[in-house]
Amino acid sequence: MQWGAEDAIAIVGTGFSGVATALQLMRELPAGATLCVLGQEAQPGRGLAYGTGCDSHLLNVPSGRLGWDPVDEGGFARWLVAEGRPGGAADFVPRRWMADYLGAMWAQGLAAARTRGLRVQTGLPGLHALQRAHQGWRLETTDGRVGRAAQVLLATGHLPPRAPSLGPGGDWEAPGLWPDPWRRPDDWRPPVDAGVLLVGSGLTAVDLVIELRDRGHRGPIHLVSRRGCLPQPHRVAEARPRPGLQPVAHLGAALHPRSALAAVRAWVRDAEAEGLDWRDVMASLRAGTPRLWQRLSLRDRRQFLRHLQPWWDSHRHRMAPALWQRLEADRAAGRLTAWTGRLAGVQPVPGEPGQWQVTLQPRDGRPAQTLSVAAVVNCTGPSGRLRDAQDPLLASLRDQGLLSADALDLGLLVDAEHRPLDCCGVAVEDLYYVGPMLKAQHWEAIAIPELRLHAQQAARSLLARRAEAQAERQAEALDAAA
Ligand SMILES: Cc1cc2nc3c(=O)[nH]c(=O)nc-3n(C[C@H](O)[C@H](O)[C@H](O)COP(=O)(O)OP(=O)(O)OC[C@H]3O[C@@H](n4cnc5c(N)ncnc54)[C@H](O)[C@@H]3O)c2cc1C
Repeated sequence: MQWGAEDAIAIVGTGFSGVATALQLMRELPAGATLCVLGQEAQPGRGLAYGTGCDSHLLNVPSGRLGWDPVDEGGFARWLVAEGRPGGAADFVPRRWMADYLGAMWAQGLAAARTRGLRVQTGLPGLHALQRAHQGWRLETTDGRVGRAAQVLLATGHLPPRAPSLGPGGDWEAPGLWPDPWRRPDDWRPPVDAGVLLVGSGLTAVDLVIELRDRGHRGPIHLVSRRGCLPQPHRVAEARPRPGLQPVAHLGAALHPRSALAAVRAWVRDAEAEGLDWRDVMASLRAGTPRLWQRLSLRDRRQFLRHLQPWWDSHRHRMAPALWQRLEADRAAGRLTAWTGRLAGVQPVPGEPGQWQVTLQPRDGRPAQTLSVAAVVNCTGPSGRLRDAQDPLLASLRDQGLLSADALDLGLLVDAEHRPLDCCGVAVEDLYYVGPMLKAQHWEAIAIPELRLHAQQAARSLLARRAEAQAERQAEALDAAA
């Protein structure tokens, strides 16, 4: 099958970011334009987050705030009502419903675009290689088909997690040890009464605890992380932040992680004195977080990551109240333990195949603790470390110098139009990026409320450049004819 065209736009990736950007473009592109969408998944919109098969994996934002389009925040909640699915705008519904919603929006957007005369090419597999052509880009899919495009938008999502060290002799390849929680077989079940160790205590670990319990796992589950912080719960009745609470404006020019922390704590005290909640303060920080992050020096960002990140993550990336209650019940029953420290060793238990003796080194200098478990799962979350990327497309773009990482390995660098910066810090013409690796520059960039804005901005930049290029071509044609 022939695909692409000299003036085509190609979108690579069909998770939330790819779908949201494609929907924006399908609305705006003129009749006759070609849009190619390349994805590795059968259903657009699933991605890592919403492709889960577990109904108890809930969205961590109330449904009333999760429309794909920034100008229609309530779109998802309305769709749920139209579909007759239970739950209101303040509820935390199953994550897989987001994939259903995005799939439905995709089908509608596609039908409308085709009716308008847009050529939308779908059903293309993943992109294997991308190279500059004489004009535009040469694209090669994973099945070897070559296509052309004038502009390419990368929405390739998360990088696999970095597996922490297992100590001397430890090997993540051994059976029962899972370096990437999203690469377990669907029917994975450790022996039902066995211990399980999850490395990390954030939302990925919460997913695993919930999934294990849903599958009838009865054995003890241990979490280990450097601070032992679990995500805090959302309020049962989620509320908007208090109007007038404007921490970002008050943090002032002399921003430093320690002074900012003191200021945030003071606001929390004030809020609580007024019968409000620390979540109001966190929520009112959200929109301004990228500006705060960009004002921090590299040294201060490093300090923030070293000392404050576990607290930031556990207060900012909260879990649905229903999940919190399940975890609390498990903790109260002594079936779930959160350890503060690090994993120091994993060794097979002699004479007990399938059993591992894990050594945890507590943070406070207390003696090491050993546990016997049947499985260890790395739940430290997706990585943003471009230099480790093994994926052929990203590795090749990195090696061609077309993508560059930030100094802290949180993601990749782009300009204000979402064009990646090359190894010399120059924006790459006709290439765009939307997705969680924007964290490098924005810190707050990985969830739907932020990504839908980035998708809208990237689509606008791409269309503006396209219009400019067309105007230039027309002017050249007129000159040539004169
Ligand atoms: C487990 C988890 C739960 C989350 N829950 C929430 C939540 O409840 N609420 C919220 O707001 N945010 C949540 N997030 C944040 C999440 O990052 C975003 O909401 C969003 O899903 C990111 O979408 P994405 O399209 O950028 O990345 P992804 O979802 O990772 O999608 C990227 C897609 O690109 C494809 N791809 C990769 N390489 C290629 C290639 N070479 N060619 C073609 N296709 C390619 C991948 O197969 C994948 O389908 C969650 C994240 C995770 C990891």
